[in-house]
Amino acid sequence: MPEGDTVWNTAKVLRDGLEDAELTGSDFRVPHLATVDLAGYRVAESLSRGKHLLLRLVSPEHRELTLHSHLRMEGAWRVYAPGERWTGRPAHLIRVVLRTAKSVAVGYHLHDLRLVPTAREPELVGHLGPDLLGPDWDPEEAVRRLAADPARPVAEALLDQRNLAGIGNLYKCELLFLRGVWPWTPVGEVPDLPGMVTLGQRLLAANRGRWTQSTTGSLHRGETSYVYGRRAQPCRRCNGPIAKTDGDAERITYWCPRCQPQPT
Ligand SMILES: [Zn+2]
Repeated sequence: MPEGDTVWNTAKVLRDGLEDAELTGSDFRVPHLATVDLAGYRVAESLSRGKHLLLRLVSPEHRELTLHSHLRMEGAWRVYAPGERWTGRPAHLIRVVLRTAKSVAVGYHLHDLRLVPTAREPELVGHLGPDLLGPDWDPEEAVRRLAADPARPVAEALLDQRNLAGIGNLYKCELLFLRGVWPWTPVGEVPDLPGMVTLGQRLLAANRGRWTQSTTGSLHRGETSYVYGRRAQPCRRCNGPIAKTDGDAERITYWCPRCQPQPT
């Protein structure tokens, strides 16, 4: 699932493949950008902000643009060598192709693809809370933002990127399990909120630089999570069955009713 760590990794893939290179062509397959041609622009920087990707471009006339994209659930960027077969996803999911002399970057199933003057980036990412994997990560500010709405269920508050940026559904579920917290506990009643925020950052940081997301320390298939994706399977701690809510896949909650009991 694309969360802060996956997005961070993707930014690095684009950095390794495109940074400092000049674009020889671009092909946008979304209507609102279909006529854009980025040939001649140099890729100055590739970075992530929470779950947002920013590709900063500079023209020979020093015009600065930022190409913004969001992976949501199913998006991906792949970098290929020129002439290499594009094997990432079916072709109809391609939203943009960026070419340089040495590489081709293909964006599949991207969301919120936008091209704006770099000076206007804050309109796209300025609302985000502290970035768990950013150079300016600020745990105290994240705690302050979370605590500002004490009645809100903690599972919902952790997903709100205005509080802290980078946590998606997988890390939300795993973090709440590891802290023994019932997902619907009001934020104001969560014991040791700073401890939870610190652990969340550690979980994401541990998975930086690899594509397998693990919260258990194991990279073996079927052993990488405590509760996420494990409905009705035995809890690794108490052996009881893992529960799962219904509904929207982006918000689904897995938890262990025994290890994360409702506060009384
Ligand atoms: Zn349990």
